[in-house]
Amino acid sequence: MIRLPALSAVLASSLLLFPAPARADDADILVQAGHQGRPASCAPHHVKACNLGTGANGALEREWTAAGADRTAQVLREHGYTVIRRPADYEPHDTVRAAVFLHFDGAVECKSGASVGFPETTSRAFVSAWETRYRAWFPFRFVGENFTKNEHEYYGFRKVDAPEKMLIEFGEMTCPAQFRWMEPRLGEMGDQLAAFLMEQVAR
Ligand SMILES: [Zn+2]
Repeated sequence: MIRLPALSAVLASSLLLFPAPARADDADILVQAGHQGRPASCAPHHVKACNLGTGANGALEREWTAAGADRTAQVLREHGYTVIRRPADYEPHDTVRAAVFLHFDGAVECKSGASVGFPETTSRAFVSAWETRYRAWFPFRFVGENFTKNEHEYYGFRKVDAPEKMLIEFGEMTCPAQFRWMEPRLGEMGDQLAAFLMEQVAR
């Protein structure tokens, strides 16, 4: 007990001598395209559950996620943000300010829609802001938050340090009405996501 004041004095003076280092982030934003690069990327990365994603009408989820992620990254970079753009499987561990993981759902026809998944560490404000924005634009069902274990405990969340992490299901590819609406709007989805991220992560 007697030594505590002395110790805190030492700590205080060392904090004054060594101010906090500059941010150690690898980039501002991480954007991952769900399933992109599979199946080829599974064996070299020792991925046992090589989930290839859903699809409909000859279109693959992993093509749509890549299109949305590319557009999101492009818009963010045009606005001066640094972006790490990841496929499904990759080695590095990243540190960013916000990380998003893009998906489309497959289900018993039209039983699903848009949804989000996130770990406990993600803020309520971040999730709510996305839901408010997306529900105002997407004219189909929003089916919920963390409604599957896969969404809540997504492997990608463990590959990044970020205060905000969120998996986004933009809609259900296997529902014909949703498919028809989404197919010509993959770029606009990227615009929506980029606008949201720029609102949440200040430059
Ligand atoms: Zn998926």
